[in-house]
Amino acid sequence: MRIGYGWDSHEFKPGIPLKIGGVTLPHDQGLAGHSDGDVLLHALTDALLGAVAAGDIGGYFPPADPRWKGADSAVFLREAMEQVKRAGYSVVNVDSTLILAAPKIGPHAAKIREHVAGLMGIDARAVSVKAKTPEGMGTDHAAIAHAVVLLEGR
Ligand code: MG
Repeated sequence: MRIGYGWDSHEFKPGIPLKIGGVTLPHDQGLAGHSDGDVLLHALTDALLGAVAAGDIGGYFPPADPRWKGADSAVFLREAMEQVKRAGYSVVNVDSTLILAAPKIGPHAAKIREHVAGLMGIDARAVSVKAKTPEGMGTDHAAIAHAVVLLEGR
């Protein structure tokens, strides 16, 4: 068994689409970043890479590389899943927490879980997506994601 942890944050910016877990959510602001700014997929990518001690997202997809400008973050998650497979492991389950002032994630959580599960090739029951507002943290301008994954040998 292996455990992995990942964390990410991106700043809100008006007038761009908001993508979380590969799902576009209705909101007047999106997350700025070199890629599509998908904070949850980035945290999950780092959790998967961390679980097999295979480096981090920036090592595979440097922000300075123009190839990843506006990139669909599903590409990053797929590479991390490939590293997990190559190391001889499969995913048991995923837990995650989003911290953001808005929009409310609850109404979209099931859709996000299903989409993430599809990208990872696992059952949606093995993917947890929780959300909190950033009480007293002063981070209302950002979205933060924490993720942990558990792997087992294949
Ligand atoms: Mg990121």
